[in-house]
Amino acid sequence: MSITIAGAGVAGLAAALSLHAAGRDDITVYEADPAVDQHGFGLNILPNAVRELAELGLLDSLLRHAVETRELAMYNPYGDLVWREDRGVWAGYRWPQISVARSHLLRVLAAEVRNRLGDQAVVTGARLTDLRREPGRTYAVFTGADGTSRAVETDVLIGADGIRSAVRAALYPGEGPPSGNGTVMYRGTAWGEGFLTGSSMAVLGDDRRRLVLYPIDTDETTGRKLINWVAAVPAEEAGEESRAVVLRRFGDWRPPGVDLARLVGQTPEVYTSPMIDRDPLPQWTFGTVTLAGDAAHAMYPAGSNGATQAIIDARVLAWHLATHPGAGDALRAYADERRPRMTRLQADNRTLGPERAITLAHQRAPRGFTDVREIFGPEELADISRGYAAAGQFDREWVDSRPSLTVGGGRRSTAVRETSFITAVIRGRECNRPDAYLRDNHAVLLSTPRSCAMADEALAAGGTIGSVIVRGRFGDVALTEAVAAGVSQVVCLAAGSDTRVWRLGLRATTRYFEIDLPGHLEAKEKLLEPVAGRLACRRVPLDADLRHGAWPHLLRAAGHASHEPTVWIIEGLLPYLPTEDVAGLLATVREMSAPGSVLLIDAPHGDFYRDPANEAFLAFMTARGSAFQLGFDDFGGFLGEQGWRAEAYTLRDLASGACDWLPTPPQRLCPPHDHHWVARAHPA
Ligand SMILES: Cc1cc2nc3c(=O)[nH]c(=O)nc-3n(C[C@H](O)[C@H](O)[C@H](O)COP(=O)(O)OP(=O)(O)OC[C@H]3O[C@@H](n4cnc5c(N)ncnc54)[C@H](O)[C@@H]3O)c2cc1C
Repeated sequence: MSITIAGAGVAGLAAALSLHAAGRDDITVYEADPAVDQHGFGLNILPNAVRELAELGLLDSLLRHAVETRELAMYNPYGDLVWREDRGVWAGYRWPQISVARSHLLRVLAAEVRNRLGDQAVVTGARLTDLRREPGRTYAVFTGADGTSRAVETDVLIGADGIRSAVRAALYPGEGPPSGNGTVMYRGTAWGEGFLTGSSMAVLGDDRRRLVLYPIDTDETTGRKLINWVAAVPAEEAGEESRAVVLRRFGDWRPPGVDLARLVGQTPEVYTSPMIDRDPLPQWTFGTVTLAGDAAHAMYPAGSNGATQAIIDARVLAWHLATHPGAGDALRAYADERRPRMTRLQADNRTLGPERAITLAHQRAPRGFTDVREIFGPEELADISRGYAAAGQFDREWVDSRPSLTVGGGRRSTAVRETSFITAVIRGRECNRPDAYLRDNHAVLLSTPRSCAMADEALAAGGTIGSVIVRGRFGDVALTEAVAAGVSQVVCLAAGSDTRVWRLGLRATTRYFEIDLPGHLEAKEKLLEPVAGRLACRRVPLDADLRHGAWPHLLRAAGHASHEPTVWIIEGLLPYLPTEDVAGLLATVREMSAPGSVLLIDAPHGDFYRDPANEAFLAFMTARGSAFQLGFDDFGGFLGEQGWRAEAYTLRDLASGACDWLPTPPQRLCPPHDHHWVARAHPA
């Protein structure tokens, strides 16, 4: 299916990446401008969209030039505090709120589109100028700066071409230009000193003017901040001399900790634009043509929702396209889900969303106040904030708990991920033996009929039991010992069907982080519901892809303390990864490991691949799409190269009693063809 996207802005590029992540690759983004990242003001991305960027693996690149917003503080012109609230991880979200230059955000998005889809996936200097729709086909006409045009035939067209969208104009020919609210905005960025917490967003206002300030980057050498500012005035107060207007209208305002005259004076360029939005539309999708981002729902810039919601559009759109058999149905379902909510948010933003608090403060106390409680009821301000967060679906409860928009993730929350639980079936069966070497009675609950059938198939193909059982017991003993010695945080990477947090009776003070692909942990939780009450310590499940860079950030945000020792469990993961991914993963784990940390890890021996006895099993794993690819002849040596001091044993070593702290496993679990390593390692 060919997908054409008009506009390489936030919505268009995020859509390309989301569609690619959802399995599409015939995607081309056409951008009217000669480059994608030309305009660079500040944007705030709320945690609901940051979660999506993290799931796309973009968070680390973004954070290289961005600021994690710590608080939102609103004032009257005299600098009296009307309302403040923590933001992002400081408000308990699992993801941060990010203040970033639009140009940096677009650079990161465009680089990843080119990286993942190829250079040809982004075509610049190509403006959509016409659109022809025929049953089942769409022709989008793009015109270059030299006036030459070409018609692109496409199965799906996404109009992500911003507030002055040509796609929207073709669908709604009589609509005309966007409407304004009679306000003119002056915007700029300049390097200066941090104010308030150093990562605060400050909004000051009366009933008609607004002054917004927040840092979007940090100079790591000097600690200075790149401060984004927006000053909005009624049109009748605007004028040609932008800096003079700003200083005349805001010169006596008191933004806390900010020397406004200096900041404005040092701003290299000040841009002027009217504050405009669009009326909500009755329909976004027409056959296989749809709208996203500002093209669909441009709103006044209050509440940090424009780019935020453009990213959510992109993710929802990709999810529907991947999960509906027909493109038309998918695009209709996308619009059905998104349009009503955006219609409400557009209306909210016409009363300036959360900034309504400032307008009310001015109306009630135009000369200021000594205590804000004199002019607002006890819950009034909190209600404004909560109501707006709920309207934009960025309230913490929803953001942190909603199913993932990653295709195959938690959105199919009822579809149990049986395939992850083959090893649980093996552990459950061992548990039922009178001579069990590993007693994982919780694994029995994970043994659904489908996963039992799959386990039978794998075993019939020659799958091995010993490595699964022995590494399980090895991990149990080593983990219990480390926790008894005082380690109070455990991180289980690719936690899949791991049940230790439920069954090992760890101390109440232990924090047990489980990380796996979106949907896996949720599926496990559902099956383990009957024993949910038995959790003795704190379990923190995190949805993340270990191949992308976001997981350490998520882990830290969820409370992992890198300065304290950690027990890391990486079990059953390595066979599926290329060596460079494993080296990268171990380097990250090493960086996050304080002295006293322990790594429990296993991997196939190189002989596993050389032994003809394993040929059928390896072919079986390849055929079911989970090919084994990695093995080590000297696992201890490999771990040593990655900065770990390891004791590594093959199953054969263990069967001969080589490990003095582990009960010797029986011969039945160490057959000659099960060439496998288990290791315990400490930071070297
Ligand atoms: C002052 C101000 C502050 C803001 N602050 C925030 C904030 O804090 N947080 C937030 O989330 N949002 C904020 N926004 C809104 C945010 O900038 C937009 O909502 C967001 O950029 C929308 O993304 P988009 O991709 O839909 O459109 P855009 O980012 O506008 O991208 C559209 C792209 O399409 C291209 N294009 C246009 N016409 C054509 C065509 N015919 N053919 C091909 N390409 C075309 C454009 O060149 C552009 O690259 C703010 C907006 C303003 C004005």
